[in-house]
Amino acid sequence: MDIITQQNKANTTATRWMEKYFDSRKTKMWKNIIGPEDQWISSEVVFDKLVELGDEPTVKDVIEATGNSSWTDITCLECGCCVEAAVLFNSKTEFVFHVCHECLSTAMSLIGKEKKSVPRREDPESIQ
Ligand SMILES: [Zn+2]
Repeated sequence: MDIITQQNKANTTATRWMEKYFDSRKTKMWKNIIGPEDQWISSEVVFDKLVELGDEPTVKDVIEATGNSSWTDITCLECGCCVEAAVLFNSKTEFVFHVCHECLSTAMSLIGKEKKSVPRREDPESIQ
């Protein structure tokens, strides 16, 4: 479990972009992608733009450089809303998901009601 923000995703986009589009194992080349005007371009062109943006680019600049918001979007698994920050669950597996503040608050309220309705167990140390 960890916190994730759009800014954090913006800060790591260049690295993630390289992991996705640079073939470091076989060809040592950048893959071609469909550019903003529906023509094939080298993904290295976009990578260079991302690097030029620095270590803390704005979310808007990353969207502009990549041509879409998928690199910075955070969608809550529960409500489906796109949010600025969320808690990331299951980060050590392939099925990573995000839950927003509002849904976490609702979850806490639900579990809080359940917790109050269950009688407390006796302390095993005191029963002898
Ligand atoms: Zn939500």
